Amino acid sequence: MVIMKFGGTSVQDAAAIDRAAGIVRSRRKQKPVVVVSALAKVTDQLVLIGQKASRSEADSAVELVHALKDRHFQVAGDLLGKQGYKEIAPKLELLFEELEDFARGLAAVHELSPRSSDALLSFGERLSSEIVAAAFAQRGLTTSWIDSRECVITDANYTAARPQMEATRKCCQAKISPLVSKGKIPVMGGFIASTSDGISTTLGRGGSDFSAAIVGAALDAKSIEIWTDVEGMMTTDPRLCPDARTIKRISFNEAAELAYFGAKVLHPATLLPAVERNIPVYVLNSRNPSGTGTRITAHAPSGREMFRAITAKTNISIVNVVASRGIMVHGFLRSVFDALDRYGASVDIVAISEVSMSFTMETRRLPEALLVELEKIADVSSENKQAIICLVGEDIHGRPGIAASVFTTVANAGVNVRMISQGASEINISFVIKESDVPHAVRQLHAHFFPIDHAWTDALVRPSRARLDKNANVSRNNGNGSGRRTTGRVGTGGPSRAKPGRISGSRSASSPIQSANRGKKK
Ligand code: ASP
Ligand code: MG
Repeated sequence: MVIMKFGGTSVQDAAAIDRAAGIVRSRRKQKPVVVVSALAKVTDQLVLIGQKASRSEADSAVELVHALKDRHFQVAGDLLGKQGYKEIAPKLELLFEELEDFARGLAAVHELSPRSSDALLSFGERLSSEIVAAAFAQRGLTTSWIDSRECVITDANYTAARPQMEATRKCCQAKISPLVSKGKIPVMGGFIASTSDGISTTLGRGGSDFSAAIVGAALDAKSIEIWTDVEGMMTTDPRLCPDARTIKRISFNEAAELAYFGAKVLHPATLLPAVERNIPVYVLNSRNPSGTGTRITAHAPSGREMFRAITAKTNISIVNVVASRGIMVHGFLRSVFDALDRYGASVDIVAISEVSMSFTMETRRLPEALLVELEKIADVSSENKQAIICLVGEDIHGRPGIAASVFTTVANAGVNVRMISQGASEINISFVIKESDVPHAVRQLHAHFFPIDHAWTDALVRPSRARLDKNANVSRNNGNGSGRRTTGRVGTGGPSRAKPGRISGSRSASSPIQSANRGKKK
């Protein structure tokens, strides 16, 4: 069995859903179970509807509902023949009636509790899964629509519910397995679930990947495929460095580390249920189905390169705190950490000496009041427009000379290093430079650690259809033939923790899952 998850952009319109049908057909022998997101941007629209309704702006909320209705009917009309459309129209009509009533109800009570927010957001995936199931059936696949809320069982932590795996396993095996045995292709919405009492919940924004991992684990799937709009995880942000290429294999810890330091393809914490059961997860491009994408597993074999990837996280501030004269040195660090704790400040890199400490934080998360408080016990200075460069790879563990070659490369690029951190996770080397130095530094590092001839020899060893395409002049990294992507998501800086870790890990303190959770909004 293979779980195939299609993200919002992979089901954004009729053409995308049609492509998805072709991809699922190509996996027919592997017994696919399909998990879909809401059509692109629909969840955002539902959030907006909730906000408007809770401010009692009933009319403009309902207007948005109607716009969503038009879009879904349009997509269904484009995808389905007369008969198919006739069958699905009443179902969609009913769902939109329910949605409109719900929005009016929210407006009447002027409020949006987490519980009603989840009920509201559930419409996105309920609608998309119905349309996708019908469209696939129309294309000759014997699908069976499944209500995810009867399969994925969670606690009542609305807006970020956690799966109850035992119950979920039972429900998935009772509801999904028999269909698969009969040769059917179940299609279900990601992101949505329910409590054991049947109240709708969601797994948190972007939670469809989590759904795929949960269902895969519950059904002991052979693999999980995350179909998205980029060519898997990349060696660096292709917008910074045109030579960036797809990472073929990566370990779960490496992927988690990359996410923490800026990669945006997916949050690996959401894959934990799959990785714990040793189910490989592939990140693939629905616009280039013949590409090999990235394979994420609990452990990954050493690659040819020393590192798996380089990320850059921009919009960072450095704060330097130096103990004021007369302050008891032994209490100094504790006072600083106490202040950080009181402000729920999550720091990235820390450098400490007896009487001083420097740390970095995302600028937008650095509270002015924290600086004021620190000034009471120390001399404080801060600098914005800094960036963290992070090189990730499990192979660096125990190998001498690696830091030297990283910093020599950076020095040769004429870039000044402000802070250094190595050791905390043993799988990354990170350091702080000026934001304006990022493109230059990343290109130099990439050229050094991911030499282009490796890309060429890899290409010769394993040709893929994309590369044989006459138009493709450089690589397998995309379907547009230019060899360069503009939409890759690794290491672009910005709010890399927008999707906080979703699994409260029972792992050791140094686990990257915990690091990911550190970023959780307070
Ligand atoms: N539709 C949900 C969201 O936009 C879940 C997902 O797409 O993964 O957050
Ligand atoms: Mg998504």
